[in-house]
Amino acid sequence: MNLATSLEKVKGVGEKTGAQFAAAGLLTVGDLITFLPRTYDDFSHVTSIADITPGKVTVKARCEQVSTRPVRRGMRVTTATLVDDSGKMQAVWFNQPYREKQLKDGGEFFFSGEFEFSYNRYQLSNPSAEKASEMPVQTDRILPTYRAIAGLKTNLVRKILNELRPLMTMVPETLPESVVKSQKLISYGDALLGMHFPNTREDIEKARERLGFEELFQLLLASQLNRIENAKLDGWKIPFEQPVVKSFVEGLPFKLTGAQRIAAWDILQDFEKTTPMNRLLQGDVGSGKTVVAGLAARQAAHEGFQTAVMAPTEILANQHAATLDKLLAPFGVTVGLLTGSVKGKARETLYQAIRDGSVDVVVGTQAVIQATVVFHRLGFIVIDEQHRFGVAQRQELLKKSEKMPHLLAMTATPIPRSLALTVYGELDVSVLNERPANRKPIITKIWSPNSRAQLYTLIDEQIKLGRQAYVICNLIDNNPLNELKSVQTEFKRLQGSVFKHRRIGLLHGKLPSSEKDAVMSAFSKGELDVLVSTTVVEVGVDVPNATVMLIEDGDRFGLAQLHQLRGRVGRSEHQSYCYIVPSGSNAPSQRLKEIEKSEDGFYLAEVDLKLRGPGEIYGRAQHGALNLQVATLGDTKLISRAQKAAAQFAKSGDNLLHYTQLAHQVGVYQRLTTLN
Ligand code: ADP
Ligand code: MG
Repeated sequence: MNLATSLEKVKGVGEKTGAQFAAAGLLTVGDLITFLPRTYDDFSHVTSIADITPGKVTVKARCEQVSTRPVRRGMRVTTATLVDDSGKMQAVWFNQPYREKQLKDGGEFFFSGEFEFSYNRYQLSNPSAEKASEMPVQTDRILPTYRAIAGLKTNLVRKILNELRPLMTMVPETLPESVVKSQKLISYGDALLGMHFPNTREDIEKARERLGFEELFQLLLASQLNRIENAKLDGWKIPFEQPVVKSFVEGLPFKLTGAQRIAAWDILQDFEKTTPMNRLLQGDVGSGKTVVAGLAARQAAHEGFQTAVMAPTEILANQHAATLDKLLAPFGVTVGLLTGSVKGKARETLYQAIRDGSVDVVVGTQAVIQATVVFHRLGFIVIDEQHRFGVAQRQELLKKSEKMPHLLAMTATPIPRSLALTVYGELDVSVLNERPANRKPIITKIWSPNSRAQLYTLIDEQIKLGRQAYVICNLIDNNPLNELKSVQTEFKRLQGSVFKHRRIGLLHGKLPSSEKDAVMSAFSKGELDVLVSTTVVEVGVDVPNATVMLIEDGDRFGLAQLHQLRGRVGRSEHQSYCYIVPSGSNAPSQRLKEIEKSEDGFYLAEVDLKLRGPGEIYGRAQHGALNLQVATLGDTKLISRAQKAAAQFAKSGDNLLHYTQLAHQVGVYQRLTTLN
């Protein structure tokens, strides 16, 4: 038997069980031994019956008397009296009549289960029972619990893993020995045993450390190798011309922040190298990322290079095209907009202009990466809010140039530094940690749904001053199953009553593109006073004259989402307000209290991390394919250890191909995260 052996060949796995495993993706012995427990119940301490207290317990006892009786239709109860040297107790099982036969066999058993008060007495409920003379699998130990597999009892999973126990002691090491040794890790086989058959809590800790380290090591080694490969690529050299940049900066209606200057400098430095830039521009909402990209595009255009700007939504693509056009047109730099709604002849003309180089900057959505778009000389790619793009899409975009274009990914998702290392390990990072000087802090208030009238008065006062307002709802249509507000009904209601005298618009994702454009552009031009919208405006939308936002059913949004939404106001010198109304009469959650307290994206990200756990945020949810089973991205110590070890290994010249398992995993991660 080896790791590739089909599970059906293992003792205790018949055709039916095999099929159930297969349905859960577990086909081979190797699959099952790496199917790790989610949690543990500690049944490792045998208690005398006389000393027993409520909770999870194990006793070693003999069965004095056992009987089964029906209690009501379809329900049979088996009761037994258990005896050890210290006393007697009762155990009870529901619908497990086979217990009677098992216990009548006689001899001593281990019983592990919950000792609790039920049916007017303390008793041991539904305990597992195993002969003490045999090696216990389900009792008398720290008992692992596995993710449920449809149709399969945990007990059976444990029993089959027990069959594979000898194999676990023989599995080959998967990490380089040098790494295992220098990091003082336990072997791969011991780690598997520690996960499935721990004797102590410490066994589990050691196993977790080892396996978690390994996952991070693979991930970080992949990004190290990508970094090394990126450095070997041939990129365009775009010289930095001070007068060009200077005139751009002097033409701006505001003064750049120090952080914007530094980020621009980083980019222009990268442009001058013949290895392609691979940079992440990270800046909280409203920190002014677009203008930094515009500055770089200006420099690129001056040297005859085209820039492609990719946005996650049409709304944002429209906005970026307008913003960049305003910034760049004075210098004779032409901007073209390529989205799904540009059709027919206009589209053909634009394709032609991109091909012959008469358009310098192409802004678009996914449309930019379609095979039909041929660039004249693509030198620079900007990806806004890049976590919304798949890796495959990025790769498509990068195929469009004869040399590798420089790449700038912009994101408002604040990630603590250690996490950035794992998630964006191969990218250089510039951070905009400074707000433009003209900004006032946004006043955020949780507002009771009972005093809505006052709230509308406050909003109306802003409109009277010439400002604009957002009203954000959770749903598009009403859902009869809950009372959450929908944009459709809120729009009608507000239009017919409170804001009857105002110009009011409706925006949501299901509107046809042309209508979305029209509404957004009207709001943007100040032709609407109030925009009732779903979260389609969550990311990136920039209407500086909008200064007040009302978020309905605020407790239905995540912390990061609330922060992003609120970021739509507070984008000018005017005082801005964000009012959050919880649904029903719910007391404000911790989340809402935090958002009321702080406007700092990094702080809120850390709070979110604590409230939800890193797995939720940076784990599967966003980086599904990373599939970390053991490591959490919140474990900064382990990350930094793995980072150092990976760097050392990458430098050591040791051949990765000597380590089959490692090479395979690293390959998977490399393809996943690579930008080329
Ligand atoms: P984000 O980083 O969220 O993408 P934007 O690039 O949309 O931010 O910029 C937000 C707003 O701030 C825009 O209206 C922009 O014109 C303005 N802005 C950018 N930089 C500055 C600055 N240094 N001073 C004042 N306003 C600025
Ligand atoms: Mg933006």
